[in-house]
Amino acid sequence: MATNRTFTMIKPDAVEAGNIGGILNMITEAGFKIVSLKLTQLTKADAEQFYAVHNARPFFGELVEFMTRGPIVAAILEKDNAVEAFRTLIGATNPADAAEGTIRKKYAKSIGENAVHGSDSDENAAIEGAFHFAGREQF
Ligand code: GDP
Repeated sequence: MATNRTFTMIKPDAVEAGNIGGILNMITEAGFKIVSLKLTQLTKADAEQFYAVHNARPFFGELVEFMTRGPIVAAILEKDNAVEAFRTLIGATNPADAAEGTIRKKYAKSIGENAVHGSDSDENAAIEGAFHFAGREQF
């Protein structure tokens, strides 16, 4: 059964471009409640662990470099069927394929620098949320 929480990051490209407010606005306008929120920065070890599933892919080094180059916003979001609903809101990985009205269509620059992360399963949402937030930071 679907849980009602997912995890997101506003990635370094979108933070650098001054799009934190615009993206958080799209998230709350879409009916998600923010239950955890922080500005933070991933270390190389953090990014390698977070994206371990991709460590054999040719873009892995580039991905780790990108995700560690500046601050990110980490957040846990709540809504019915949150994981699937949030994947719909962010749009396809490659902004060239992202639907109108999605966050990546509006803010992503490329398949690599694509503005936001969204968990792909309830299990990963729980793991990723716990990676960034202690229990007392989850409301
Ligand atoms: P997501 O679930 O939509 O974020 O996509 P994936 O799980 O497939 O990939 C994770 C992240 O790796 C993406 O969001 C991109 O930041 C990055 N990525 C995926 N494919 C590519 C690629 O072909 N080149 C580069 N440079 N980065 C990629």
